Amino acid sequence: MKKLFAAVIAIAMLFSFAAMAETLKMGTECTFPPYEFYDESDEIVGIDAEIAALICEKLGYDLEIVDMAFDSLIPAVSSGKVDFVMAGLTVTPERASSVDFSASYAQGVQVVIVTEDSDITSIDDLTAEGANHKIGVQQGTTGDIYASSDIADAGYGSVEPFQAGTDAILALTTGKVDCVMIDNEPAKKFVAANEGLKILETPYTVEDYAIAFAKNSELTEKVNAALEELIADGSVQAVIDKYITAE
Ligand code: GLN
Repeated sequence: MKKLFAAVIAIAMLFSFAAMAETLKMGTECTFPPYEFYDESDEIVGIDAEIAALICEKLGYDLEIVDMAFDSLIPAVSSGKVDFVMAGLTVTPERASSVDFSASYAQGVQVVIVTEDSDITSIDDLTAEGANHKIGVQQGTTGDIYASSDIADAGYGSVEPFQAGTDAILALTTGKVDCVMIDNEPAKKFVAANEGLKILETPYTVEDYAIAFAKNSELTEKVNAALEELIADGSVQAVIDKYITAE
């Protein structure tokens, strides 16, 4: 009887320990396939979601994914509302002054999407003498930053910021903007899902994606070490291949 009792207690303790695994909150923005998006059963899936799950598994954490507006991600992680951000987030010197970044786990390329019959045939058309285009972007992204500084501020047109990448695409298909500047992998998905769109051949710029943490967070080193292991053993590439070559 005593033994049985002890066994019951031991099992109960095991369960409560399992339930007590600390949860890490990942901030992201889910209109960014194939990095993060909702699948048919309304689950958040994608490259970032899977890499984050592998990292948490390695470190013994539960993972909770929090979907929010892209431009609230950096404030959310620096104020501790989420523990880290994984959102196809580009490393920039400006962002690095308010968050710490992990090693880079993927590359992104800024590209320009136009309608098939567009008068914009190359990225140079955006900064040509007398150019005056409306450029759709997702608010707060590097696409927004480049379009604002290189095109709008230089007097070649204006920038229309949207909350979600999908909203920027809708504005393009309905003629409210002349093009959309966005990351290449989501761009490919958007072009595949909408008729009459194409990606300009010359990419705008190449960038590094990394995980962001609050400055001096205790997590940075641990998570980064786990990420580096997953990069070294090929797990990260396997996740990327699953989403990017399987189209
Ligand atoms: N890579 C871009 C950036 O960091 C866009 C990311 C996104 O829209 N999720 O600004």
